[in-house]
Formats: sequence, structure tokens, C-alpha cells
Amino acid sequence: MKLIDLEVLDSLLDQIAVLNRDGDIMAVNRSWVNFSIENNADLDKTGIGNNYLTVCPKEVQEGIIQVLKGTKDHFNYEYPCHSDCELRWFVLRVTPIKINQNNGAVVSHVNITDRKLAEIRLERNEQLYRHIAENSTDYISLHTLDGKYTYVSPNHSHVLGYTSKEMVGRSLYDFMHDRDIENIKLLNDSSHTDTIDEIKTITYRFRCKNGKYIWIESKYKRVLSLDKITDEIICISRDITKNKQKLLELEEEKKLLKKTIYTDTLTGVFNRRFFNRHLKKVYQEYLLHNIVFSLLVIDIDYFKKYNDTYGHRKGDECLIKVADTLASEVRENDRVCRIGGEEFCIILPNTNKDEAISLAERLCRKVEELKILHTKSDVSPFVTVSVGVTTANISRDIAKVKQEQFFIIADKALYNSKRGGRNRVSFR
Ligand code: GH3
Ligand code: MG
Ligand code: MG
Repeated sequence: MKLIDLEVLDSLLDQIAVLNRDGDIMAVNRSWVNFSIENNADLDKTGIGNNYLTVCPKEVQEGIIQVLKGTKDHFNYEYPCHSDCELRWFVLRVTPIKINQNNGAVVSHVNITDRKLAEIRLERNEQLYRHIAENSTDYISLHTLDGKYTYVSPNHSHVLGYTSKEMVGRSLYDFMHDRDIENIKLLNDSSHTDTIDEIKTITYRFRCKNGKYIWIESKYKRVLSLDKITDEIICISRDITKNKQKLLELEEEKKLLKKTIYTDTLTGVFNRRFFNRHLKKVYQEYLLHNIVFSLLVIDIDYFKKYNDTYGHRKGDECLIKVADTLASEVRENDRVCRIGGEEFCIILPNTNKDEAISLAERLCRKVEELKILHTKSDVSPFVTVSVGVTTANISRDIAKVKQEQFFIIADKALYNSKRGGRNRVSFR
């Protein structure tokens, strides 16, 4: 071989040998020699002058012969060649060459360990994930950032009724209950805001193939896709219908309970328990944000006489009518509470003195206008009320009146209305 050719061969890291048409080794490069030495191979068998066909495995022998004959334009043979301290894989490549008009071949051994290890790792991970996906009781799916399914684990079909073919390519939103789509602006939005590590949880109703909806809880996060360009979303979901139904029932019960414990059974307005709680809340807002509020204490005049004259049942009916009137006259955020027998309180957030007095006067008028006959009343032929009004505002209450004192002040104002002749309003 020419010197230059040998130098080129020596410069290559792969182990290379040149064979003549009979398979005799005509030339080898430095890597070939070094490798043979490092691995204790017998250079007498793999060095120049030996016939390579006699030392290689049968399969390789046949491949080389075919290349030498010209029936194959190349031949590749992958094989492990582990040393005591490391795993190694090589590929033996045979390509044709012309030597003095005769057929020959170049044999090279290329180290492919890195590629092989990557392949093994990938295969192992794939097996692992497939096992998890196929045997988990949770449903695992992959989505594009706009929600389209790109993969669904086989167990989806058991519960949801769809084959994976029927789901892949369609959007999760296609299966979601309309009302939940609005609430969950998940996948679209997540493309802008989520970081790869962020895991989010959503619950929604999913329409199964049989038309029925089940509640699903999904935990999802963004993952890098295979091309590392377009991110995907991995979603792990479970059927939470039973839990959700229980939760909805509990919520319903809670609402009912709340209503019951805060409602006066006779009149349907709020009760004393609610009054105490709500006054506390409004008082806090007044302290923290200087939000003015007013309080009315309303008492039916000569109600004992009314009961004595018309009976207790009529008395109850009267209480209901008065309560209804008060409730229908106030604003949405005002709270009418029955705090005792024939005594009501109204908490008026965001209401100053003038507004409170004017409402109190209107209420007096409206009750009398009910024209509930009360022949034993000393102030009117009809049932009337007296009202005490007080207002909490920061300029007045420099020393900050305590919560419970507001009621006492309003009650004193009510006493003034009673003393002043009833069916009237007093302010303190
Ligand atoms: P005043 O004008 O000073 O308020 O006189 P009054 O008679 O209204 O006040 P008093 O406190 O003397 O009487 C209140 C009456 O309210 C006594 C009670 O029989 C009646 N009462 C309390 N709770 C109920 C109830 O739930 N239903 C009925 N029908 N009457 C009730
Ligand atoms: Mg009374
Ligand atoms: Mg009373």
C-alpha cells in the first residue's frame, strides 16, 4: 500500500483492515493493532498476511465472501465485545474496494457503545412507562398543548367506553361538560404560563360513550415532546364520581344546615344567632376600612295587647306580615333579623344616619299601611312599630364604640321612641 494511504488509515479511530479477494489481510491501521494488543488478541491471526475469513465467525465470513464476490454492496454485523471493566458494542462493517483491478474489501470495527446504551435505556424506559400506563388504575393520556389526545392508556376504554382510536386526535374539550369547559381554561392557557415542573389539578364531568357523565380528576403537567420543540401535556386521571357525589350531597346538606341554623322558623328572616355573627362582620369592616353602618331596632307596639285581643295564632300571623314587610323594603345587602319575640333588628351596611332614619320612617309607615287591625292600641287603629336607630361612623365614634354597645345604643333610641309616644323613630 502507498504510504499516504497508510497514513490516512492510521489517522482513523475505527479499527480497519484491508482484505484481498481471498480474504487475506493486506493492511491494518494503528487502531487495529492497538485494539488487538489491548484485548490480548493474537496478532499472528489478525495481523497482516493472515486470512481473516479463518478467524471471524461464520456469519461474518459469509458476509465478507458476498461483498468480495460482488453479490452484496456492504455487510454490517453488530456484536458485543465487553471487557472486564466495561460494556462495549461494535459494528463490523465490510465495504468493497478494488485492489489492482481485483475485488477486495475494507473491514472496519466501529465502537457503537454510546448509541447502544442509549437504545437500551430508551427501550427500558419505554417498557417501564408502558407497564405503568397499561397496568395503572389511573388513566394516562398525552395531549397537545391545545388539548388534543395523542395517546390514551388502554384502561380508558373500560371506563369511558371509547377505543383509543376514537379519542386520539380529538380534544379533551369534546368530551367535557359544557359548564366545565368554561371553568377550566387549562390546556390552552397552560401553554403560556406553566413551567415544565408545575403540576395542576382539575375536576370536570366527562361524557362517556354511553352518554352518561362521570366526574374525573386530572393531574397534568407539561413535558418535552420527542422532537424537543413542541411541548406536550401528560395527564393522569381518575374517576371521582362517587367522591364527588358525596361531596355535592355534603355541600347541599351544609347549605341547608346553614340556612336552618341562621333562619327564624316562624318568619323566615334571619335569627339572633345570625344577627350576632353578621354584626361582628360589619363591625370589623367598619374598624378596618371605615365602612359606615347603621342599626335599626324595631319593636311592635302594644303587642301583648294584640295577643290578648286576637289570640296567639293571630299574633304569629302578624309577626310574619311585619317581617315580610321589613324584608321586602330593605336593600339586597341589608339583613333583617328577628332577635326576640316581637323585636327585629336590621343591619344596614354602608348606610349613614340620614339614610337610616329615612328607611326607619318608611318602615313605620309601611307597617301601619298593612292595616292589621289593633283596636286596643293607644297610637293607631292598626298595628304599628317603634324604631331605634344608631349609626357607626368614624368621626362620631372617635373612642371606637365596642360591637355590643351598638345594640345597646339603638335599644336606648327605641326606648325613646316608646316613651315619646310609639309609632315613631328615634336616633342616638
Ligand atoms: P311595647 O309597645 O312597649 O313594646 O309593649 P308590648 O306589649 O309590645 O311589649 P311586651 O314586651 O310587654 O310584650 C311583648 C309580647 O310579645 C309578649 C308576648 O306575648 C308576645 N310574643 C313574644 N313572642 C311571640 C311569638 O312568637 N308569637 C306571638 N304571638 N307573640 C309573641
Ligand atoms: Mg313591643
Ligand atoms: Mg319587645
